[in-house]
Amino acid sequence: MMMTEDEFKERLTPDEYHILREQGTEAPFTGKYVDEHASGIYRCKACGAELFSSNAKFDSGTGWPSFTEPANRENVDLREDIRGGMHRVEVLCKKCGSHLGHVFDDGPKKKGGKRFCINSACLELEKEV
Ligand code: FE
Repeated sequence: MMMTEDEFKERLTPDEYHILREQGTEAPFTGKYVDEHASGIYRCKACGAELFSSNAKFDSGTGWPSFTEPANRENVDLREDIRGGMHRVEVLCKKCGSHLGHVFDDGPKKKGGKRFCINSACLELEKEV
């Protein structure tokens, strides 16, 4: 599915647009899902793709929602990001190409050691009913 930038602008707030479409980052401890513990599925704020399960969410202490793995590896893209003199791995929604956050290797060892560090602004929690 291809959306034009105008369509993204229509469905997102200016802050969300900046983070998702211009690789922005929300300030730590400001996002609405940092301390969220409800069960459900986190979908892409821009296109609705299923990205992360609450089962994989953990409290990383970093100030961003953190997950040990995507709900479906097929729904995310990973790519090298060398902006700002840092070497990081960017996480994107495969369906709409939007920026979600980064993945680091300092996650819980027992659960694979990954920490998907995702902006709350990029997510919409569909709570389990
Ligand atoms: Fe998306």
